[in-house]
Amino acid sequence: MTSDKNEKAAREFGGPLGTAIIMVLSHGLMLYLWIAWRFNDGAAPFPAGLSDVGSFLARTWEQVVTHAAPTWSTFAIYWAFLVAQGAMAALIPGLEIKGLPIPSRGGKQLVYRCNGTTAWYLTLAGVTSLHFTGIYPLQTVFEQFGSFMVAAIVTANAVALAVYFGAIVTGNAERMSGRFLYDFFKGAWLNPRIGTLDLKMWAEIRVSWIALFLLTASGAAHQYAAYGAVSTPMIFMVIAHFLYANACMKGEECIPTTWDIFYEKWGWMLIFWNLAGVPFVYCFSSMYIASRPPFELSTPYTVFLFVLLFGAYYVWDTANSQRNRFRMRLNGSYVKRKAFPQLPWGTLENPRYLDTAAGSKLLVDGWWRYARKPHYTADVLMALSWGLVCGVDHFLPYFYVTFFVIFLLHRTRRDMARCKRKYGADWDRYTEAVPYRYIPKVF
Ligand code: NDP
Repeated sequence: MTSDKNEKAAREFGGPLGTAIIMVLSHGLMLYLWIAWRFNDGAAPFPAGLSDVGSFLARTWEQVVTHAAPTWSTFAIYWAFLVAQGAMAALIPGLEIKGLPIPSRGGKQLVYRCNGTTAWYLTLAGVTSLHFTGIYPLQTVFEQFGSFMVAAIVTANAVALAVYFGAIVTGNAERMSGRFLYDFFKGAWLNPRIGTLDLKMWAEIRVSWIALFLLTASGAAHQYAAYGAVSTPMIFMVIAHFLYANACMKGEECIPTTWDIFYEKWGWMLIFWNLAGVPFVYCFSSMYIASRPPFELSTPYTVFLFVLLFGAYYVWDTANSQRNRFRMRLNGSYVKRKAFPQLPWGTLENPRYLDTAAGSKLLVDGWWRYARKPHYTADVLMALSWGLVCGVDHFLPYFYVTFFVIFLLHRTRRDMARCKRKYGADWDRYTEAVPYRYIPKVF
């Protein structure tokens, strides 16, 4: 186990106290949003006054215990999903991609098996068969949402504890600050694996986004079962979450070079949010629509929302692929893929870039000539469309975009600080060449 001065100096997330608060609040937040959805029609529940705080908390607790207690069946189904995704990731043949050299392992490069598209379509086929044969109607997930959510929360905490202590016992802990809560939150183990199964990739790609899509699909199934129709806003959410999950699978070979995989350790933060937070928080727009009688929006507004979604998706998809493929070509891991959809301008031929003393090259072409985080802007616009499609009556559908903006601002700050440390004066040259962070000429 080593001590990392940078980690200590950074005191990211407010150190041990800040991380403890984030961990407690994350649990409270998920339960709070669920209560807003399940019992308050999507409005934020508050105590009526100071004197009501006690009974408000008691009421809340009773709602959780009565309607969200996990059952053996919800645990079993959630775990079956986790195991099925793990088994497919480990066993189905796929593209073998080398990750970046890992400094703490003497420059060793791990091999990642990318078979996400096959696993994704097999999952869709399996779930569709279970639904239409009546063996497991998909709307059951919607009906038992609270119970599934708490099963995921419990599982995520158990996995985080097992991985943290597993790292210590097996001598795989690295970059440790020596402060338990902080280290538990940030993680100890960089790349835990079971055989060929990379647990961090599995949780980030196979679990969170596929689970998100299935939750939304369960909402659509519920709407159809309850009302005999699926509304356009519900179809919009199914398409939106299909596109997002599908993009993660079809671009899986680009993910080993992203920050989460090559730098972040697999700690509570990633484990909790990948196994529980992302699917069960990001899906509330879908749940909001599914739980009310089908409603329609005006045609011009609906057209505007689809244009916003598809436009933002296009920029997001191509910005990510332009940069990742540029880097992959440089390190020799680029492979031309056909997974649907391959969009025009996804690969740049002979792009302009800046050389750096650190060895990496920084792209200043394509979308990356306009802003340093064009993919974040596009991602936020997609998130906004998920809220706008629900109308403007309640806060719940807008929680995700609000949370996401704060999350990305913080992530940008951390990433910029890391890049400044890594690239020094070259980073200043880069920020002069591309002066805007998110929106050209504005911000
Ligand atoms: P980024 O894609 O922003 O990657 C940051 C790293 O990319 C930097 O540390 C640097 O690493 C490299 N880099 C930065 N600028 C350039 C450049 N001009 N040319 C080449 N390399 C560059 O990381 P994320 O992982 O944050 O985002 C990936 C995608 O995932 C985004 O679209 C984001 O919106 C999405 N995302 C979604 C989340 C969600 O919950 N919905 C959560 C997190 C991300 P290096 O050291 O290699 O130079």
